[in-house]
Amino acid sequence: RAKEMGRNNYQFYLTEMNESALQRLGLEGQLRKALERDELCLYFQPQYDLDGRRMVGLEALLRWRHPERGLVPPDEFIPLAEETGLILAMGEWVLREACTRAQAWQAAGLAPMRVAVNISARQFHQYDLVRLVRLVLEETGLEPHFLELEITESLIMQDAEGAVHKLSQLRDLGVQIAIDDFGTGYSSLSYLKKFPIQTLKIDRTFVQDLSRNPDDSAIVDAVIALAHSMGMEVVAEGVETEEQMRLLHDKSCNRVQGYLLQAPVPSDAVARILLQASLNQPQDQSSLFCSA
Ligand code: C2E
Ligand code: MG
Ligand code: MG
Ligand code: MG
Repeated sequence: RAKEMGRNNYQFYLTEMNESALQRLGLEGQLRKALERDELCLYFQPQYDLDGRRMVGLEALLRWRHPERGLVPPDEFIPLAEETGLILAMGEWVLREACTRAQAWQAAGLAPMRVAVNISARQFHQYDLVRLVRLVLEETGLEPHFLELEITESLIMQDAEGAVHKLSQLRDLGVQIAIDDFGTGYSSLSYLKKFPIQTLKIDRTFVQDLSRNPDDSAIVDAVIALAHSMGMEVVAEGVETEEQMRLLHDKSCNRVQGYLLQAPVPSDAVARILLQASLNQPQDQSSLFCSA
């Protein structure tokens, strides 16, 4: 088939490649400047506990406010940031920003929430993450148990022995560890028990068809049983319907996150959501009125 395409097509293909290489180069340059130009920002998506539907945490999600392209989602620039190593500076910014915000909301008298931060493979392996986390917690004054680090299975399995060591050090600091997108990667169950992990996040691809697909339903059952038997909690991602909520509740899932409850919002919108959450908890109401 390649032969049929002929010479012209081959040249066309080359031109296309050059164009995309150029585009990439442009993007890389812009991404380098994004940090210093203050174009990165965090959105936050609340997590709720499934029993009382009480808000229990927030996941920090990175966005790039590009001057021409508008709000760029992370899937469009994080892979490039990983490749180029820019993820190290960006990830440090994310961690500091998330902890600073979480501490500021608490200081303002709002209901204390755990904040979850996504950690990339390169950040985890090629970097003194433990030192950085310790430093940022000291700087911001956020208590360690309010920070949850989200890592992926494939990240851990790149160097499982090394990961056990690093995760134990993070655990010693008192931060929480969650495995993100659980079920989509390859992970060894024998390692799972060695990792000091508190939470498994079931990937949204299993939640999507929960009510229609018996295989997905069986996988969710198995993950929840596995997690609970090992003393871990389960968070379901991407919950979009009441039906999914009901099924997850019946399956004794612990926490949920998804558009049904709340889409990710910019950080200035979080205070309003937190205030609402505080007002729903009687014991916090008085302290709010006192500080007002
Ligand atoms: P993730 O950590 O699995 O985050 C969940 C993604 O699902 C978010 O996409 C969120 O907006 C989206 N989501 C939440 N609820 C729903 C729902 O009900 N339905 C659907 N269809 N989607 C939902 P987002 O913000 O575009 O982030 C995509 C991925 O980018 C994240 O997946 C994470 O892997 C990565 N990412 C985001 N922020 C950071 C960061 O600061 N550092 C690193 N290393 N990666 C990040
Ligand atoms: Mg995540
Ligand atoms: Mg996820
Ligand atoms: Mg994901």
